[in-house]
Amino acid sequence: MINTGTGGFFLAPLKDQAFYVIMTEISLRRSPVESLAQLPLPLLEWFRDNARSLPWRAEPTPYHVWLSEIMLQQTRVAAVLPYYQRFLAECPDIADLAALPEDRLMKLWQGLGYYSRARNLQKAARLIMEQHAGLFPSDYASIRALPGVGDYTAGAICSIAFGKPVPAVDGNVLRVVARLTGDSGDITTLQMKRQVTQAVASVIPLHATGAFTQALMELGATVCLPNGAPLCERCPVQNLCAARLQNRVDQLPVKAPKKTRRVEELTVWLILFQQKVALRRRPAKGLLAGLWEFPNEPADRSPLSGWNIPPQAEEIVGHAKHIFTHIEWHMTLHQVETAEEELPSGWVWATWDELSHRYAIPNAFDRAVGFLNKKLNNEVE
Ligand code: SF4
Repeated sequence: MINTGTGGFFLAPLKDQAFYVIMTEISLRRSPVESLAQLPLPLLEWFRDNARSLPWRAEPTPYHVWLSEIMLQQTRVAAVLPYYQRFLAECPDIADLAALPEDRLMKLWQGLGYYSRARNLQKAARLIMEQHAGLFPSDYASIRALPGVGDYTAGAICSIAFGKPVPAVDGNVLRVVARLTGDSGDITTLQMKRQVTQAVASVIPLHATGAFTQALMELGATVCLPNGAPLCERCPVQNLCAARLQNRVDQLPVKAPKKTRRVEELTVWLILFQQKVALRRRPAKGLLAGLWEFPNEPADRSPLSGWNIPPQAEEIVGHAKHIFTHIEWHMTLHQVETAEEELPSGWVWATWDELSHRYAIPNAFDRAVGFLNKKLNNEVE
């Protein structure tokens, strides 16, 4: 980009384009609202022709939008698709979700992670049954009051399922808007979130609230990609984008670095007795609350005698790592064969079949489950 010295910028021609784009310095200093004012038309046209065909878009009822948005939190679309279909097959409506036994709910969610999302879904479904006669509430305050529903999800449900002009601002939208408006504010701050929410709210077209919300999300998910890799040459709003016009795409959005994760060294005890493995439930609160797990303890402890499990044979059979948002587990898988059937209170012996179909095991233990697949499943075949 060349400063012409006359109060304007002269942009070098884009590849294969036989025209020049002239912008004034004033236009580069537009407020976020001004920058976004021209966004809806080209964005909606692009979305009409480029929207991915996703099952929750086919019939955007409040239940479908809610379920898909909760599943999509921290999870990629491709990973969500089979879960969404399976979940709806078993719980086609809110009443079914409210009545689903907890263990079944956890099993349906197994592998999606962030299990509190599933528990909150069910709490919310029960609340809808009790307080809203089974009908999904349509006003923002009631939707936002449902367990597990934050500003973003409430905005998505209001705009997509109920046609209300409520913005849905998540990390994707923050990134897109920061680039479009050339805003160098830190997108992890509340102030920036408020500013972007306000700016988006001011331009949502009343006749197409749901399409606009989804179009903005779609742009972030398929074109305006994170980590300095946006596909600007395919972007339907590139001529409105301050970051592109100012040649600052690789600098935006500004994001404070994440805190480093705490590393926990664990020994995972795979205790075997007659083709069964010992499981215990995790505490009802905290990380992976209420799910089943292989007994595990900090690596510097030797808990077998405390559990009254005399080992007949033991060996280390592998290592695994699992990353949560704030914690990293570094696990050593320790196999123990025992002849003692009695287990500590609340623990159970599980066959391979029960491990596969009955108990919900978090995917932090995937490596251990893979090992047991060979040990308990293949060996008995
Ligand atoms: Fe994002 Fe590039 Fe489009 Fe700007 S031009 S909104 S940076 S994809």
